[in-house]
Amino acid sequence: MLTEKIKKKLKNIVGSKGFIDTPEDLSAYSYDAFVKEATPQLVLLPESTADVAAIMAIADQEGIPVTARGAGTNISGASIPVNKGIVLSLTRMDQILEVSTPNRYCIVQPGVVNGDLQACLAKEGFFYPPDPGSYMVSTIGGNVAQNAGGPRCLKYGVTVDYVLSMEVVLASGEVIRFGSRNVKDVTGYRLSSLFCGSEGTLGIVTEITLRVVPLPEATRTILAVYNDLDDTADTVADIIGSGILPAALELMDKTVVNAVEDSAHIGLPRHAEGLLLIEVDGVEEAVEKEMRTIVEKAKAHGAQEVIEARTAAERDDVWTARRSAYGVFARLAPDCIVEDATVPVSHVPDMIRHIRQIADRYQLRIGILAHAGDGNMHPLISTDTNDKEEWQRVEAASREIFELAMSYHGTLSGEHGIGLAKTDYLPMAIDDATQAFMTRIKQCVDPKGILNPGKFV
Ligand SMILES: Cc1cc2nc3c(=O)[nH]c(=O)nc-3n(C[C@H](O)[C@H](O)[C@H](O)COP(=O)(O)OP(=O)(O)OC[C@H]3O[C@@H](n4cnc5c(N)ncnc54)[C@H](O)[C@@H]3O)c2cc1C
Repeated sequence: MLTEKIKKKLKNIVGSKGFIDTPEDLSAYSYDAFVKEATPQLVLLPESTADVAAIMAIADQEGIPVTARGAGTNISGASIPVNKGIVLSLTRMDQILEVSTPNRYCIVQPGVVNGDLQACLAKEGFFYPPDPGSYMVSTIGGNVAQNAGGPRCLKYGVTVDYVLSMEVVLASGEVIRFGSRNVKDVTGYRLSSLFCGSEGTLGIVTEITLRVVPLPEATRTILAVYNDLDDTADTVADIIGSGILPAALELMDKTVVNAVEDSAHIGLPRHAEGLLLIEVDGVEEAVEKEMRTIVEKAKAHGAQEVIEARTAAERDDVWTARRSAYGVFARLAPDCIVEDATVPVSHVPDMIRHIRQIADRYQLRIGILAHAGDGNMHPLISTDTNDKEEWQRVEAASREIFELAMSYHGTLSGEHGIGLAKTDYLPMAIDDATQAFMTRIKQCVDPKGILNPGKFV
């Protein structure tokens, strides 16, 4: 129970600056980028691992729920404190502790913003590949807890592929460290795979060592414009099937293109039924050769036009436009649901055809946006959650989209996690025995169930 006496103890740990308990300030932590809300009883902003450990020891003793929070940008409701209690905001732990380019790692606190890390590494000629569309605000702690992806992850892999070592505070307040600064490390279980994507249900991540890679010598970016969305999708499957691995291969349908253009005004072709944003990077000669093949394939599949972003500024424009897609689509209606169904890439064309049929059948505005090169589909559904009848149609359409993905041996989430958004669909992807195993792991590290309760485990 969060009594006044306990609150006083907690305030002694974080000081007045890290202690929030007024209703108006608490409400700022009641929502994330999903559509549900729950207000915590208290928000604490620790400044060190010791603070986090002391907070967790009290929470464990008193059985108080604790929900970790980075920037609150997740789209699945993962950081909503459904059982109230404490929201633990890690944004004050925002130091880049070390960058070692000869050893190709960096050590960061969880509240470091992905974009700030990118800017720091770029000065050294390096980068950290996972690049969620939210990279300018989302934190590395949140990226780790969601096992975040992004456009570049097609070629470079997702967050878990870059975590070398972690420090985690368990529910009991115990601090554990696993992994090392070495790319090669087979010392015991690879626990980073367990904690990445655990959505704050197993422990609080307080320090992360990440693998970094050199910036590529050359990068080329094109937009391929289509009159037919099926042709767009067919191109994706053909490029990936041919063995070329672009750094990014993003797909937008007409609804998304126009929503983006309404806001970005960078001259995207409004008439296009489908648009591919393709980026290739690497050694100059290889980039040149791969891009030639890609353009040939795009044209063979009916691309009307291929537009190249020739300067860094033009490339930035295209990427800013693409990354703004969620935000601008969300402006079309009071709410926007971003689905995250993922399929083996050869099924992207089928998925797109069926999603359009589902949109028609349920009379919903569904824009299609996809990290298409890795089959990660983000149908964007604009809606109004207060319209009960429409919301029922949204839920039915979402269920069908996920059933469809599963029928193609796909999965419920490529990068946004389960959170509150997809708990009902979980049995589609995880059988009872596997779910029970996950529950046993959870019970082992968090026997009182105080870490982010009410979520997928
Ligand atoms: C416009 C937009 C674009 C996006 N694009 C992408 C994309 O391309 N790819 C992608 O993968 N995601 C994307 N996202 C989703 C989101 O940004 C990511 O999931 C991101 O990793 C969340 O980081 P955050 O700091 O906001 O974490 P939060 O949303 O605050 O938290 C996310 C989860 O992590 C837990 N958590 C946070 N910090 C810690 C910690 N230190 N220890 C333990 N648990 C913790 C929380 O409890 C919660 O369960 C996008 C979101 C938006 C709004």
